[in-house]
Amino acid sequence: MFRVVRDSRWRRQRLLILCYHGIAQEDEHEWRPALFMPPGILDERLEILKRGRYNVIGLGEGLEKLRCGSLPPRSVAITFDDGCYDFYSQAYPLLRKYGFPVTVYQTTYYSDYQKPIFNLFCSYLLWKRRGEVLNQGFELGVESPMDLRSEASRHQIVLKLVKGSEAEHLTGAEKNEITTRLAALLGIDYDRLTAKRILQLMTAQEIAELARRGVDFQLHTHRHRTPEQEDLFRKEIDDNRNRLQQIVGSTATHFCYPSGVYRAQFLGWLREEQVVSATTCDAGLASAETDPLLLPRLVDTSARSALEFRSWLDGIGSVLALQKTAPQRYVPPPD
Ligand SMILES: [Zn+2]
Repeated sequence: MFRVVRDSRWRRQRLLILCYHGIAQEDEHEWRPALFMPPGILDERLEILKRGRYNVIGLGEGLEKLRCGSLPPRSVAITFDDGCYDFYSQAYPLLRKYGFPVTVYQTTYYSDYQKPIFNLFCSYLLWKRRGEVLNQGFELGVESPMDLRSEASRHQIVLKLVKGSEAEHLTGAEKNEITTRLAALLGIDYDRLTAKRILQLMTAQEIAELARRGVDFQLHTHRHRTPEQEDLFRKEIDDNRNRLQQIVGSTATHFCYPSGVYRAQFLGWLREEQVVSATTCDAGLASAETDPLLLPRLVDTSARSALEFRSWLDGIGSVLALQKTAPQRYVPPPD
């Protein structure tokens, strides 16, 4: 049945856009399996693409051919969100081994500010001491004791730290100061994790190097957010685009909604910004009828089996999928 759908006219008129986030350097996939996968699984996925003779094409080329009706059979495009350092150290070497083109939706604030991403790093640090209850926390403005036994209670602590830092309009350096203190409080070696660039983005030099090697860098907002106010929203696009232009020397016109969050009013603002395509995290294959500013993707995680992954490549997955719309914000799973 897979083969019949895979080689059908229906599938030939569709582009499957794959979405990845981080590739673990250590144990990040155990912390957030929906965000990170171990390099071995990515390697397996790319091997499936190669062995199944799927046509992995660049995103821009794929979208153009989708529009003209000239897609090769079994077309797939590969995208990575955020542009973490682990793309440089883990994902890119694998993609190069297979010779597959790739698009990275690069957010730029943290690539200029070389510190770990605040909210994610706090969550990761707390997870490292999961199962414990610590008689500390008041120094950081969170309730004491800190209950690290469930993901939900750890998430509450992260929310408190994030909301506190927003209320006080803390700078990046001040937020990083909190992360450093949190690590010390938890007895975790902050310097070792930051030396390894865990939960950090690629630097401008690394982005420039990969762009020279053929990696396509596109828009994901400067600060990984989509304000509901038009001028602020458009500033996010402009700042992101200008910074990428300085680094890679070309103008980015493809966009990916941070965290998969989109609203009806964003579409007109994106058109004004000359953005030609925008991808969501909703599951599906794109056809010529799909709004180019609401392109579905398959968010591939280590929770998916190889069989499920293949079913999506062939097109059956989209027929069988029950939940197609992505949750719009992170909700910790019940323990
Ligand atoms: Zn993102």
